[in-house]
Amino acid sequence: MTDQQQSSHREGHLKGGFETRAIHAGYEPDPTTGAVIAPIYATSTYKQDGVGGLRGGYEYSRSANPTRTALEGALAAVEEGERAFTFSSGLAAEDTLVRATCRPGDHVVLPDDAYGGTFRLFDKVEQAWGVEHTPAPVTDVDAVRAAIRPGQTKLVWLETPTNPLLNIGDIEALAAVAHEAGARLVVDNTFASPYLQQPLTLGADVVVHSTTKYVGGHSDVVGGALVVRDLDLAEQLVFHQNAIGAVPGPFDSFLTHRGLKTLAVRMERHCDNAEAVVEFLTRHPSVVQVIYPGLEEHPGHAVAAKQMKRFGGMVAFRVAGGEQQALSVCERAEVFTLAESLGGIESLIEHPGRMTHASVAGTELEVPADLVRLSVGIETVDDLIADLDRALG
Ligand SMILES: *Cc1c(COP(=O)(O)O)cnc(C)c1O
Repeated sequence: MTDQQQSSHREGHLKGGFETRAIHAGYEPDPTTGAVIAPIYATSTYKQDGVGGLRGGYEYSRSANPTRTALEGALAAVEEGERAFTFSSGLAAEDTLVRATCRPGDHVVLPDDAYGGTFRLFDKVEQAWGVEHTPAPVTDVDAVRAAIRPGQTKLVWLETPTNPLLNIGDIEALAAVAHEAGARLVVDNTFASPYLQQPLTLGADVVVHSTTKYVGGHSDVVGGALVVRDLDLAEQLVFHQNAIGAVPGPFDSFLTHRGLKTLAVRMERHCDNAEAVVEFLTRHPSVVQVIYPGLEEHPGHAVAAKQMKRFGGMVAFRVAGGEQQALSVCERAEVFTLAESLGGIESLIEHPGRMTHASVAGTELEVPADLVRLSVGIETVDDLIADLDRALG
């Protein structure tokens, strides 16, 4: 690590509460201009003062760029990690992690309801390079233990909450199961965001993010991140991030960093609005089931209450009128935009069976046809409820 990167890394450990770290960690006002916000360093290369005389260690922007260094310092600080690495998408982060930690013949345990793109990455890409996988339910610690192949399993992959059924896995318990077998626990923390849950503090070895979602938070940038505590693993990731090169550009890094600074206030409002929407839906006669980890009847409620600060902005529900009504609710909503993705300031509605989860139709990952998924945004909550009331008819 270079001096300047080293010092950003230390700033990543700036003390203080979550909000203070999200706003200040990773960057000190620029010594020459005093710029309070990390500038967008739109440069691919850096002048050297004599051969090998790098200023602040910057040499070429695939290896490091100051706008990206600032973002990585802040992400490490909010996840309570030692180092963070950012990528051009969440899937690029995942692929880089697999190449850094697995070799042909190795094995990975995956959630049986993993994010579709994660499942496809392992099933269609990593498998062809000799990395095998076994799906197991995140809610069942014994099933995950049974899926591990001692000596061969390198990663136990966890998402919690999962998509779209919001199943909850116990991070502490699964970290113990992975470690007993000499494997690492990877937690995709995209749905909770670092504000609601910090998996490294519960024993996880790697946190994965699609920063496209809550961290960016404004549906205007695609990106991914890995956060770790172990410095040997960090060195492997430094090498692979540069050697593979799926890095975010300076403008993407800037947007993602800008989003991260307001994550705490956005998440509080996402949670407030989701709770009000859940309360409305549970009383609505055409809704047969509301799925939200904050509800006491949710099977993962106790574990979620133990490891999450609040229960997030994602809500799913099933309607009495079957698939037809589920489709019509999605089409009639106006404030809720009919779209895939999640985690932005605007509310989104979708039909998982025909949209995000269409590719798993007919498999054991199939989701109910009468299911609707909401990413509850931060608009005026009365408008969100009135919109759903109208759409439900
Ligand atoms: C979106 C998403 C990903 C993939 O991230 P991209 O930025 O789209 O590549 C991975 N995991 C989860 C849980 C996601 O929601």
